[in-house]
Amino acid sequence: MSTIKVTNPATGELVQEVPVSTEEEVQEALQKGYEYFQTWKQVNAHERSSLLKAWSARIQEEKEGIAKVMTLESGKPLKESLGEVDYATSYIDWYAEEAKRIYGRTIPAHTEAKRIIVSHQPVGLVAAITPWNFPAAMMTRKAAPALAAGCTFIVKPAEETPLTTIRLVELAHEVGIPEAAAQCVNGQGKKIGKLFTDSDYVRKITFTGSTPVGKQLMKNSADTVKHVSMELGGHAPFIVAADADLDLAVQHVMAAKFRNAGQTCICANRVLVQESLADKFIHKVKEEVATLRVGNGLEKETQIGPVINGKSFDKIVNQIQDATEKGAQVVCGKEFNANPNQGYFFIHPTVLMNVSEEMTIMKEETFGPVLPITTFTNVEEAVQIANSTPFGLAAYYFTNDYRVGTYLHDQLDFGIVGWNDGAPSAAHAPFGGMKESGLGREGGIEGLDPYLETKYLSIGGF
Ligand code: ADP
Repeated sequence: MSTIKVTNPATGELVQEVPVSTEEEVQEALQKGYEYFQTWKQVNAHERSSLLKAWSARIQEEKEGIAKVMTLESGKPLKESLGEVDYATSYIDWYAEEAKRIYGRTIPAHTEAKRIIVSHQPVGLVAAITPWNFPAAMMTRKAAPALAAGCTFIVKPAEETPLTTIRLVELAHEVGIPEAAAQCVNGQGKKIGKLFTDSDYVRKITFTGSTPVGKQLMKNSADTVKHVSMELGGHAPFIVAADADLDLAVQHVMAAKFRNAGQTCICANRVLVQESLADKFIHKVKEEVATLRVGNGLEKETQIGPVINGKSFDKIVNQIQDATEKGAQVVCGKEFNANPNQGYFFIHPTVLMNVSEEMTIMKEETFGPVLPITTFTNVEEAVQIANSTPFGLAAYYFTNDYRVGTYLHDQLDFGIVGWNDGAPSAAHAPFGGMKESGLGREGGIEGLDPYLETKYLSIGGF
């Protein structure tokens, strides 16, 4: 039997082996999900809502255990894993309520002889592919609206972090969500992705991950005209205007950059500070970064865990090298504690200044604890730099001038904008990107729409 070896990125130790689903098993699961959809879609919305609430409560009961598994497989500090369990259940709670609000509407007809009614029905079997950086929340923010809408759901978690997802799906079954309504299969993304996209049983693909994989999934979904939701890469600018509250901006840049060791798609990836404030800003950031504790996520004091694997480590190190070769200065950091043979990869929080646009770090998502700082003279220039990327997920800016803030809101081509806020994610708000950062939104009332078809009924003969 072929297995996935799940290892702890903080030590390289084997955590657990997970059986790889065979092609037959995946096909069987797809058929099961497809067939069960006919039953699940008829379960009334209040019942689906109650099941989701029970799932959320059961996850909360198991919070400590789930968080520990998450830290073991992903490396993130335990405190962050505990926070992610709450974040994950917040999506289930939100969609448990929204399940009861899938309203239709009536439209005044153009003749007395007709009535027009619009209603919504679930799209069908939904196949999800999720990443390793938020193994719980990226799953629940797809599963919860899918199940709330009356869709059946099948997920393939990232090979690095399948254990959290497997546990969450087990807990769903424990509280009575039928096995055929929420399934999990495991294996290599490319293989299972192709089985998902080729299948006539699947009506929707929902994906969080890298832009190249998202593009491939969209192409592969075209033949069967599946619905697609894509939450792809980001390259978030973090703009600090001259009038900004310096302490607030520094506090938020630390959170927006160093959460999960910089491995989130909305991490601040390019920090743009107005010239007159730059020295003060850099000085304060340096002081804050010096306090960060790097280590194994299971240790209580740890704030920065390892990066996920060697590939990620190399990419980050190359970005730092490229930047320094092209003239960037290291303010602090650039220390590594990695052993590829043993399989652990730590990068100490690194701050770079005098960063310029031709450096790779200003063009590519970093996914690591590196904070590159560049300066700008006026807000028009900040907008030009910020928008000069194919990505459009999150952008942040700090200013107390309402004209500057409103101008930036109008001009920035990003789906999520934080004004004096470096932590905008919430289950009740629509999360998603513009341009090559994705299609569709997750969270909020917008997050349910992608799981629903609109059906228009025209009744004549009155
Ligand atoms: P990362 O490089 O950060 O791991 P990926 O986009 O490669 O991001 O991975 C996100 C998810 O996509 C994982 O579950 C992975 O297994 C899956 N995946 C990777 N390659 C493919 C592919 N070609 N088709 C479908 N899914 C894939």
